[in-house]
Amino acid sequence: MLSPDGVLGVGCAKDNGSTTTMTKPMTPDDSTTVFDTAIIGSGIVGASVACFAAPHSRVLLLEAESAPGYHSTGRSAALYEPAYGPPQVRALTRASRAFFDQPPPGFASSLLLTPRPAMFVGGPDDIETLRAVHRSLLDAKLPTEWLSMEEALRRVPVLRPEVCACAVLNCSSSDIDVHALLQGYLRQARAAGAQMVADARVAALARSGDGDAAGGIWQVDTVDGRRFHARQLVNAAGASADEVAALAGAAPVGLQPRRRSAFRFDAPAGMDVQGWPAVMAADESWYIKPDAGLLLGSPANADPVHAHDVVAEELDVALGIHRIEAATTLQIRRPRSTWAGLRSFVPDGEPVCGFDRGCVRTALWTWPRPKEQLHLELGSFAIQCVQFVDMRVLAVNLAGFTRFSHKKALTRPPTSSPSSFWQYQAR
Ligand SMILES: Cc1cc2nc3c(=O)[nH]c(=O)nc-3n(C[C@H](O)[C@H](O)[C@H](O)COP(=O)(O)OP(=O)(O)OC[C@H]3O[C@@H](n4cnc5c(N)ncnc54)[C@H](O)[C@@H]3O)c2cc1C
Repeated sequence: MLSPDGVLGVGCAKDNGSTTTMTKPMTPDDSTTVFDTAIIGSGIVGASVACFAAPHSRVLLLEAESAPGYHSTGRSAALYEPAYGPPQVRALTRASRAFFDQPPPGFASSLLLTPRPAMFVGGPDDIETLRAVHRSLLDAKLPTEWLSMEEALRRVPVLRPEVCACAVLNCSSSDIDVHALLQGYLRQARAAGAQMVADARVAALARSGDGDAAGGIWQVDTVDGRRFHARQLVNAAGASADEVAALAGAAPVGLQPRRRSAFRFDAPAGMDVQGWPAVMAADESWYIKPDAGLLLGSPANADPVHAHDVVAEELDVALGIHRIEAATTLQIRRPRSTWAGLRSFVPDGEPVCGFDRGCVRTALWTWPRPKEQLHLELGSFAIQCVQFVDMRVLAVNLAGFTRFSHKKALTRPPTSSPSSFWQYQAR
C-alpha cells in the first residue's frame, strides 16, 4: 500500500502480521530507460544507498518482495548498541550517531533513537568479559557505569543474583525506530527521483552493448519477465547477496547467512518493564528488552542456513526461554509471537563494501570510468551503522574499492568530508 505521502509502504516485523504491501508498484517510465544505477534489494542498505545516490544519478530500486523491509530489516531487535559487534562495526555505529540524532530535514516526523541503556550481565566467570566491555566503552568515551549486583537488581528486579555477579551499563544505547528510518530513506530517495519497483525479483543479469567501460549496459531481468537497464549495479540483496553476485558473474564474498530467532512475551503481572534497560548476557547466550509493553527475548543464536524466508525453529525459542528463565525469575508460559531473520557474515564479522574484481565494465555514477559491480553487505549490524552508507556512496565516487581496516576505522571514524574519507580507506 502507498502511504498517504505516496511513499512505498514499509513492511516491518513479519511477526506482527502487519506487513504493508504495495498495491500499486511504481514502474519506470518505459522499458528502454537506462538508469545510472540499479540497486537490488530494498532493505535498510538498499534504501539508504538509494537515498544518498538519487540526488546524483538516475536510480532504480528493485525489490523481490511486495514490500521493502520484509526480510532482515523488518525483523530486527531495533537496538542501537555501540558496544556490540566487532571493532569496525562498533566504530561505524558510533560514527552513525550524528545522523540518527540529526537526520536531514523532513527525514522523519519523530525521533529515530529513544534512549534505552543496555546492561551486560554475567556471573563470576564473566567478569573479565564485562571488564573488557566497560574498558571499550570508556576508551570510546561513551557514558558507562560499572554496577554491583545490587545496583543491577535495582534496575531489573527479575535478575537472579547467583547468575548476575555484576553488570556494565552502556548509557548510550537506544531503541531505533526502524520503520521511520527505512521510510525516511525511501521517501528521500523517491523525492530525489529514484524509481522503486516491488515484486521484482532479479533472476538474470547480463551485459549488453560493447560490454566495455562506460559503453556497456546491464540488462536486469526479473523472474516475471520484466527487463530493466542500468549502467551500474549495487548488490544490496542482504543474505542473498552472493546469489545475486553469481547472476552478474561476480565472485562471491563468502557470506554466511545465520538465523537469529526472537519472541515476544508478557511482562510479569503488575510490573512496569518499559523503563528497563535491554539486558544482554555477557556470553551472548540470551537477551531481553522491553517492547511496547511486552518483553522481547532471544537466544542470540546465529545458526548457519541458506538464504530463505526463515522462520523461528521451536528449539531456538525453547532454548531462549530456558536461558532467560535460568538467569531471571521471569516465567515465560507461551510467547505471544515468534519470528526469525537472517544476519549474514563474512568470517571476521565486519562489513563488506566494494567493487567486485572479476566483474568489470560498469560505469560509475558520474565518473566515466570503468567500474565493477558494487557489493554492499553490512552483515549483522546494518541498521545501527547505516548512516555509513553515505560514505559508501562517496566510496563509489572516489575509490572504487574498499575493505575497511579495523585500525583505521577505530582511529579515524568516517566523516562526511570526501577528503578525510579518502584517507580513511584501506586495502
Ligand atoms: C532477530 C534479529 C535481530 C537483529 N537486531 C538488530 C539490532 O538490534 N540492530 C541492528 O543494527 N541490526 C540488527 N539485526 C540485523 C539487521 O536486521 C540486518 O543487518 C539488516 O536488516 C540487513 O539489512 P539488508 O538491507 O542488508 O538486508 P535485508 O533487510 O534482508 O534486505 C535485502 C533485500 O534484498 C531483497 N532481495 C534479495 N534477493 C533479491 C533479488 N534477487 N531481487 C530483488 N531483491 C532481492 C530482499 O527481498 C530484501 O528485501 C538483527 C537481525 C535479526 C534477524
